[in-house]
Amino acid sequence: MDNKTVRRLKAIVKDENVLTELEDRVCYSYDGTFKRGIPAVVVFPANTQEIVQIVKLANEEKIPIFPRGAGTGLSGGSIPQEGGIALVLTRMNKIKEISQEDLLAVVEPGVVVERFHQEVEKLGLFYPPDPASLKTCTMGGNVAENAGGPRAFKYGVTKDYVLGLEVVTPLGEVMRTGGRTVKNVTGYDLTRLLTGSEGTLGIITEITVRLLPKPKDKKTALVIFDTLMDAANTVKAIIYEGVIPATLEIMDKITINCVENHSKIGLPVDAEAILLIEVDGSKNQVQEDIAIIEKVCTANNCRKIEIASLPEDRERLWRARRAVSSAIVQLKPTKISEDATVPRSRIPEMVKRLRAIAEKYRIHLPVFGHAGDGNLHPNILTDKNDPEEMARVEQAVEEIFKAALDLGGTLSGEHGIGVMKKPFMEWELGEVGLDYLRRIKQAVDPNNILNPGKVF
Ligand SMILES: Cc1cc2nc3c(=O)[nH]c(=O)nc-3n(C[C@H](O)[C@H](O)[C@H](O)COP(=O)(O)OP(=O)(O)OC[C@H]3O[C@@H](n4cnc5c(N)ncnc54)[C@H](O)[C@@H]3O)c2cc1C
Repeated sequence: MDNKTVRRLKAIVKDENVLTELEDRVCYSYDGTFKRGIPAVVVFPANTQEIVQIVKLANEEKIPIFPRGAGTGLSGGSIPQEGGIALVLTRMNKIKEISQEDLLAVVEPGVVVERFHQEVEKLGLFYPPDPASLKTCTMGGNVAENAGGPRAFKYGVTKDYVLGLEVVTPLGEVMRTGGRTVKNVTGYDLTRLLTGSEGTLGIITEITVRLLPKPKDKKTALVIFDTLMDAANTVKAIIYEGVIPATLEIMDKITINCVENHSKIGLPVDAEAILLIEVDGSKNQVQEDIAIIEKVCTANNCRKIEIASLPEDRERLWRARRAVSSAIVQLKPTKISEDATVPRSRIPEMVKRLRAIAEKYRIHLPVFGHAGDGNLHPNILTDKNDPEEMARVEQAVEEIFKAALDLGGTLSGEHGIGVMKKPFMEWELGEVGLDYLRRIKQAVDPNNILNPGKVF
């Protein structure tokens, strides 16, 4: 990037909010995948008007912009592809309003999700989306990826809570979508279009989200199984009994062993699977649901159930699940996190197919994830410097996607397409569906400024 453009960027956001040194730029060249791409410059805007000016400048000079929150994405979405500007939204981190009356909040995109949870919970309110990365990831990143999390089973995902957005368009105009009402059918649903648009259709500068009253009670159960199929069948059976837990997470044997080795929580390393089940609601409802769950788990041959009611005991059980991502990289240095998702009823079949794929391609494939909503996280642990193994891994990844689609599922339940899954988009959307997406992108971003090389 030429010096004149850097000077113009510095004039917009002030010198200290532009990074040009290589060792600084490298810090913005990665996300949670193994992909890399170094931006030509890193810019930290403080407000919407600065972003407007940056986007106009980028259109004039035909420079790509790569929006970025905390860089925890698992599909390569924020990684710069062709130099360009890494536009980091973390300085825009104000919680502007929490309204108990309207049950909503208005936030800037750089607010970290855990902080937002804490602030709304202080007022007896509840924002359900809870990606496992919530200590770090941003509200803007969550909206751009339409993030989910363990509680999606009962409460849905980010798109179910976004009421309205302020967005800087790819041409540098400011647009508002939706508003402060739950009901809003004025025009096309641009809020939904932008939620999950992965930074390709606009830069999200303000988010209005719906809140719920905080559930009065919670219980968590850790259930141990001697076969993975018994655990998978239990998931089906719980739903069949009409219970919708807030979370229903599964971990297979490889995952259990990694977590235990990493965090010494006291998990049984000879178990084949664990379910972590949390129910919430009124005291009576929680009591009733947990009793049904105990009955169903016992009927499906569980070895042991541990039930925790106190926050500190529940937290201890959750530590096992939260440790997974860091724990499994003990196996191999490169982690490829997939989130192919199937209808709930097909989980046992998907688990069987994943096992067969792991055997066929001789790869480490721990399975864990949000079993309640069919969003398993088959993770391949490999070494990107081993070309022979990487060739097998690529074939395995293709087969995982084929299996998910074959069972009526989708390529991605929550991590998005980014660069990792774009070669497979046509399998799911078909030629016409993919072309429709492309035409939307071309119509709103004729210069292909925003996050080029992603999704398509
Ligand atoms: C350990 C771990 C656990 C995870 N668990 C979950 C999980 O349970 N559920 C889940 O859904 N995801 C999970 N993720 C993935 C990731 O945390 C989410 O996708 C999250 O939403 C990304 O937020 P971020 O702020 O890090 O965004 P980034 O990674 O910085 O960006 C993600 C995408 O959003 C775009 N973007 C960011 N901010 C904006 C903005 N303001 N305007 C427009 N576009 C923007 C970027 O261009 C990029 O395409 C996990 C990741 C890790 C590393």
